[in-house]
Parts: sequence; structure tokens; C-alpha cells
Amino acid sequence: MARGYPPRPGRGKQPGKGRLTVLLVVCLAVFALFVGRLAWMQFAQADYYAEKVAQASQTTYRVPIPAARGDIVDANGGILAADTTTYDLALCLPAPPGTDLAQTLDTLRMYNLIAPDGEDVETQLAAFFSVASAGELPLAEDLDATAAAALYETGLPQRGAVRLVARGVRQYPSGTLLPHTIGTTGPITAEQWAAGDYALREAGVAMDATIGQSGLELAYDALLRGRDGTLRVTVDADGARTAETLVAPEPGATLQLTIDAALQQAVQSALQTRIAALQQRAAGDGRECTAGAAVVVDVATGGILASVSWPGYDLNRWRADYAALMADPATPLLDRVCRGLYAPGSAFKPAVAAAALHHGVITPQNTVACTGRYLYYSGYQPRCLQISHSGPVNLLAALKFSCNIFFYDVGRRTGLDAFSRTAQALGLGADTGVELPSAEGALTWTTDPNYQSGLTLQAAIGQGNTAVTPLQLAAYATALAGNGVRPALHYARRALSADGETLWEYVPHTQGTAPGGAAVFGPIREGMVEMSTTLAALRGLPVTLACKTGSPQRPERAPGGGYYTNSVLIGYFPAEAPRYAVSVVLEYGGGGANAAPVLRDILLSLYGEQAVVAASSL
Ligand SMILES: [Zn+2]
Repeated sequence: MARGYPPRPGRGKQPGKGRLTVLLVVCLAVFALFVGRLAWMQFAQADYYAEKVAQASQTTYRVPIPAARGDIVDANGGILAADTTTYDLALCLPAPPGTDLAQTLDTLRMYNLIAPDGEDVETQLAAFFSVASAGELPLAEDLDATAAAALYETGLPQRGAVRLVARGVRQYPSGTLLPHTIGTTGPITAEQWAAGDYALREAGVAMDATIGQSGLELAYDALLRGRDGTLRVTVDADGARTAETLVAPEPGATLQLTIDAALQQAVQSALQTRIAALQQRAAGDGRECTAGAAVVVDVATGGILASVSWPGYDLNRWRADYAALMADPATPLLDRVCRGLYAPGSAFKPAVAAAALHHGVITPQNTVACTGRYLYYSGYQPRCLQISHSGPVNLLAALKFSCNIFFYDVGRRTGLDAFSRTAQALGLGADTGVELPSAEGALTWTTDPNYQSGLTLQAAIGQGNTAVTPLQLAAYATALAGNGVRPALHYARRALSADGETLWEYVPHTQGTAPGGAAVFGPIREGMVEMSTTLAALRGLPVTLACKTGSPQRPERAPGGGYYTNSVLIGYFPAEAPRYAVSVVLEYGGGGANAAPVLRDILLSLYGEQAVVAASSL
């Protein structure tokens, strides 16, 4: 305007007044709308909004209901491991209507379930309410049935003021029987929780659940642990429970083993008695023996009937005794059956014989001259003790009297790798199929870093780099009994539901086969029957048995100057129609013959009182 432009008509006087009026009208309209809306909300929709507010003050929480873990029973249904029920106590928060938190706490103090001064529980309550408005505060663990019953008399659980949570605790009626094999349970570790992309969580397992941690408890955990349930609780602002949804837990299956608890006890006693007797003998002849293992296998199925690793421990006390068990020089926590490694010594000779017969290196009639010293190599000339033999020795005599020269020569001619392959097919240094983590074991090969020709001779009598487990020795005995066919060894027979229905069953199968059949194994089995007749402890038994001893040297020298020896013994019976295969190992046992009384005791316990009478009358 100051610039001299002529004013336009209708403008210049009261500028913007029209727009202001429009704005005012719009504002009034919006305000009216809000007031109207508010009035409508307050009056017309009153019930709807009251419900919304109530919902906002409700809280829902979930409580896991642990599933009962399945029992582990022996072949006859005898309990080896079972859960007993214990109770944990939880305080329900906030206190439900009709109950008073202070009174509830007073009652719990009266029952000595919380500390009398109450400081602890006040601190816990403060911590609880700083993160949640409703839920459960754990107050006490491991209440027995009497304490739980007393608490019910107060009416607190019935009124919802507290909740008693039933929980299983593993008990072992005979805790010293089969401890390594049964194994342990315990809370999930962080590593287990994260393993397999949180596989346990995906399977519905609670983060703080107890699961199998070792042995069969771990191997069959998925069958044993069952499926936890959930209680979903909704409470309102006053603490009243407005809804409860229960997903009931599914109990775990009962795991039935092939183990016969009575036989297990008998084998354990036999081993223990034998070790105690050897400790009375001369240095180097068993006095230093403190440990061993023995296994009995059902030849037809590969089911393990007894499995003793000695010394052992009590599963009911192993947590409390753990420091002492760890410090014990006899290493009682080691499962010698699956993880102990021992040179088989002369017990290996049947494997060399099987390879030699199969490859046509010898016939049962061929002989080797035993001169007491093997002179093939100029440098390394190992010896034979020539017990009850010298001169020309055939396979039968070589097995019967354990002639080293025969097996040095036949082993060398067969070839190290050829007889190691046969030994592997027979179960030595091979997977037995068993459900537990086991040592692989080792055989001796021409590819071994320390290989030189002398190693072939040592390996032919079960030494060299060869080291196998007592379970592999039992698999080997089973294969010799079965003309080279070796069933997979196993501890589990089947899984049963609570009402006795079979949910799962182990299907016996062949784990390995060494070729040749009866043509190869017939003469070897004959030699093993002959061998058993040379052992005084095995005479006069009600059934014929076949066996082979081993007296492998240990690296340490005994006081007399010679080396300490272990005792190794494999066998099976009845020799004509084998039902049972056995392996026995005694550390510092002083030679294979020293293990024979254990084999005798095993045979007698399997053939009952009648057998004992028959044997003692001879
Ligand atoms: Zn000889």
C-alpha cells in the first residue's frame, strides 16, 4: 500500500476478520464433538469401558507342572532308578481374596517353613513386586509327604494362598548296582539349553528342568523325561483367580533293561571277592589289583545281562561323595566297561587264527615248531613260555597252551593289517553298538607311526598298539560264539507306558561279521574248549565252556624285575550251543588264569543252586 498501488475494493478495512470467524466456528464444532464424545463414552458406553479397565488390572502367569520321570527297571521289572515325590512350596501373589499375606506368612513361620525373623521373605517379596504384579514366589524345597499333609491342614493350599508343587527326586534302591551305566540326572546346563538350536525348548522342556546327564539316563532321556504340563492362572487386581487352565503333564516311560539285577549283583560280588583274594597274594601276582571289569552278554540278542566296573560308587550318594571319588586313585567314577582300555594279550590269538584260516595261510592241521624263541628276525627274537608244549604245534595245541611262537609265525605270514581287520570285524577296536559313549579302542596297523616289523609279532599276541575295552572283549567273545557273527550290544530292552503297554522296543541286529563261518570258527572254538580244561578253576562245571586267557604286560616293572601283568579272560558257554558270552579284566591281576574264578562264579550263578551242588559233588 505504501508503494502507491491503488487499494482493491473490499479489502483494506478489517483485514483477516472473516478467516478468524471461520476458525472460531471450526474450533467450537470440534470442542462440541469432543464433549459429546466424552459424554457418550461416560454414559452410553460406561459398562464397556469399566470392563476394559478391569482387564488392564488382570494378570496372567504360567506355572510349569513337571512331568514324573520314568523308572529304570531290570529285565524282571525290579526297580533300579525311580522318582520319589517331594514337594516345593510357593507363595501365591498377590494374596487371594479371603486370605491375608501377613497371616499366611505367620502360619508358614509356625511350621518353620520360613525363617522366624521374616527378613528373608520380606526381601524376596520386595524383589518379586519390583518386577511382577502377580505370580508365585518359591519359599521352600524338598518337603516330605508329612510336611505337605500338615500344610494342607492349615487350609492355605486350598484357599490358594500357597501352592505345593510335587516334584520327582531320583532314588536308587540298590545304588551301588550298575552306577556307571544308569548314570545321573541334573538341571539343564546353559550349553545343553542352547544345543541343537534350543532343541530342548522346542521339545517343550522347561529351562530349569531336570534331565539325564550321563549313562542311560542321558541316552534315553527323551523317553524317560515325559512332557511337562502348565497351569495358566489369571488373577484380578484383588488377587482373586478368575481363570485357570491346566495342561496336564505326561509322565515319562519306564525303561526296561536287559540287565538281570540278581546276576549283576552276583558278578559284582564275584569280581570284588576275587580282587580281595588276589590282594593276599605275592607282589606281581595280583597283590596290587584294586580294579577290574566283567561283562555278561546274551549271545542270541546282544543284550547285556551284567556289566560291572569295579570299584564303583553309590548313586544315592555320589554328589555328596564327589570330591572323595574324584581323588580316589582307583578312579571309581571311570566306567571301565565302556571306557577302560586294555591290551587283550593272548586273548587276541583266536582273531589271528580266524584271519589265517580265512586267508588260507594255515589249515587246522599245519604245525609250527616251538623252540622257545622266535628266530625269524635277527634283531627282535621274542619268546614262548612253552607251557606244556614244545616242537611241532598245530592250531588246537597253540590255542590250548597259548603258544606264542605259533602266533608270531602265523601272524607274520597272515600280515598285520589282515589280522587286525579280522579282529575289528570280531568287535575289537570297533563300535559295539552300545548306547553309551565308549572308547574307540585301537588295533595295530602298518600305517601306525611307530610301525616296524617287530610290532607285527607283538600285535599277533594282543600287545603292540592294541588296546580295547572290556565291552569290546565281550562283543568279541560273542562273535567267536556265533561263528563270526556279532550282534550289536545293548542295555535297553524296551520302554513301557504307565499301564504296561510297550511304547518302544530295541530291535536286535547284527553289528559286524567276520567271514568264514563254521569252517573257520569251528577249529578255533574247539581250541578254546581245550584251553578251558587247562584251568583248575574251570574244572567240574555243569556245562562245557570255551575260553581264552590273556596276560598282557603293563609298562611298569614289578619288584621281582619282570613286568606287572593284567588278567584278561574271554569265554562263552555252553560251548556246544552258546547262550552266554563273558569278558573279565583285572588290572594288575597277575595273568589271565587269575580271572578264571570270576568266570566260574558267573557260570554257577547262571546255572543256579542245582549247578553249584553238581559242581561241588565232583
Ligand atoms: Zn610255544
